Amino acid sequence: MFCQSCGARLPEDADFCQSCGRRAQLDKSGTCPACGTGIQKGDDFCINCGTAANKGAERPSQSGQFAGGDSGNRGTGNLIGFSDRLNSTEILEAAQQSKKNTLGCMWVSIFVPLIGFPIAGLLMDDFPFGESLIMGVGLAFVILIVGLFFLRGTKKPMWEGRVVDKSKKERRERRGKDDNYYRTYMEYKTFIKTDSGKKKTIVERDSGRHMYDYLEVGDRVRYHPSFGTYEKFDKSKDRIIYCNVCSMMNPIQNDRCKRCDNLLFK
Ligand SMILES: [Zn+2]
Ligand SMILES: [Zn+2]
Ligand SMILES: [Zn+2]
Repeated sequence: MFCQSCGARLPEDADFCQSCGRRAQLDKSGTCPACGTGIQKGDDFCINCGTAANKGAERPSQSGQFAGGDSGNRGTGNLIGFSDRLNSTEILEAAQQSKKNTLGCMWVSIFVPLIGFPIAGLLMDDFPFGESLIMGVGLAFVILIVGLFFLRGTKKPMWEGRVVDKSKKERRERRGKDDNYYRTYMEYKTFIKTDSGKKKTIVERDSGRHMYDYLEVGDRVRYHPSFGTYEKFDKSKDRIIYCNVCSMMNPIQNDRCKRCDNLLFK
């Protein structure tokens, strides 16, 4: 069973969604007469096909007139198109902050080995000082290179494109030095062709297949380099939205992310 609101997986006997708090169990009568999809108590229309849930109510018109009193209802037109919240001062500040955090982490992870290894070399009898100095500097250098590479990525321009293909494959990776010890994992790839004709691939593995599940072939997407996240053009059929700042899954009704409280891109 899945949450009707946010899509989280729920135990069969759950009364409420552990993720968003919405009532999970349906009434016996709470199914759509047309398509059979479950309807929450209090909802006037089927979220799947739009048929009126009870006889008194009418089918919603194309203009998006919803008779329901549910505060979560909004015109579907609002959910089609890339969000302009990207340029709000709040989101621009969040981008600055996430960059500062990255820089802070980078400096800490550079100085810890740079100072820690020589200190260990001085204190430990069986760890020569010269060797500790080389290891500390070497490790700090590697972290610096990785950090600079990452920062260069956040400066790249935003791009848009279309999902052209998806694939999944079982792969093996060697673990440790033993040639005979392999670990298998599932690799999920989402292929995007950008408007300028470049090919981009989102690679995810095992249960981290968020974009693989979220994006369908044909979907238009926009990549936000300052956060390293993707935004879908047409969110009107979705029950969930990913926070573009922290990647947390949120119910589509939310205006702000439940984890980081930033505006959701919708
Ligand atoms: Zn939920
Ligand atoms: Zn229905
Ligand atoms: Zn967030």
